[in-house]
Amino acid sequence: MKKKIAILTILICLSLSAFAPVLVHAQITIKLQSSSVQADFPSKLTFNLSAKDDVNLTDIRLRYTINRESFAQAFSEAYVAFTPAATVSVNWVLNMQKIGGLPPGATVKYWWVIKDAAGNRLETAPQQIDFNDSRHLWRNVSKGTLTLYWYQGDDAFVNQLMTAAQQGLASLEKNTGAQLVRPVRIYIYASARDLQGSMVFPAEWTGGVSFTEYGIIAIGIAPSNLDWGLRAITHELTHLVIHQMTFNPYNGLPTWLDEGLAVYNEGPPDPTFTALLNQAIADNQLTSVRSLSSPFSAYGDEATLSYAESYSVVNYLITTYGQPKMLELLNTFQQGSTYDGAFQEVYGFNMDGLYTLWKQQVIPKRASRLEPVTPSFPVRFGLALQGLMPLWGVS
Ligand SMILES: [Zn+2]
Repeated sequence: MKKKIAILTILICLSLSAFAPVLVHAQITIKLQSSSVQADFPSKLTFNLSAKDDVNLTDIRLRYTINRESFAQAFSEAYVAFTPAATVSVNWVLNMQKIGGLPPGATVKYWWVIKDAAGNRLETAPQQIDFNDSRHLWRNVSKGTLTLYWYQGDDAFVNQLMTAAQQGLASLEKNTGAQLVRPVRIYIYASARDLQGSMVFPAEWTGGVSFTEYGIIAIGIAPSNLDWGLRAITHELTHLVIHQMTFNPYNGLPTWLDEGLAVYNEGPPDPTFTALLNQAIADNQLTSVRSLSSPFSAYGDEATLSYAESYSVVNYLITTYGQPKMLELLNTFQQGSTYDGAFQEVYGFNMDGLYTLWKQQVIPKRASRLEPVTPSFPVRFGLALQGLMPLWGVS
């Protein structure tokens, strides 16, 4: 009997506790009057809220998430400063300089949490905004999983870029097995200057950016600079595919592999690369594969040589060991492997071993036909004018 009473008591308590929130809920008097957001690309998003209540509203917070590839389902919360009152209109500004900026077309989901002096709480339904660069009149064209946005140049211009992008995807799959996992949007700005105007922290040499976690690429390609653009779009798209293929919460790729694949997939190497690499071999100035795993130097020849070497090492791996091994390597990196661990597992040597084998491959062949390289300054200057330098500096 005692046991029955105890169970009954527990059941009553459970019933009361189940009813309790409903009773409190019925007293909620917080009313959402309006909620909106204003985009000022690329600098800020201004979130606006108006609400009223029978008692003072005492606590307002904005919660938001940015739609990108991530392993953590986290949201950010901003406390809104205001004087408690029964009717309030507040705003809160997401300053892009504080978060490093967002690419054009990034989606932000947001909602409000409002509390009053009586202890009531209202959480609004989520809304979302696409942070579009509305300073330009964009047109778009899609094929498969790719969409290109552009505002200057005719249909022939964008069709050539689309063809290059599709061919880039096909050649990447043929040589490495890597394929796009998710859709990609590519924004073609009409110049490097326009592109830099879309960023909160632009570097003056930025010509193309792959926002890998967003599936978004932004490149400055003038219709008059199409040849460069065809390589640029392939380069950045390769970065994005490789990122999607290998994304994991533990480890990225060594820089030389990431950049080497991007340059390799552009097509035949730029003659400047070949010349600089030959010179470095002749001068015994090669950089070890291990050293090339860190971010490249931002300076002239040093950076260019890093790209040239990276291309050559990737070329060696694909030519010697084939596509299946490269695909296996990318899949091993996707498991979160260390650099050396991945190479050891797939190829049977670590990065030092790779450096030794690669040197054996390139040095004897090139040493017999080395020629002095013409002055490097005009080469660098010319590259900067063509917009090549930026690509190499951005991953
Ligand atoms: Zn790159």
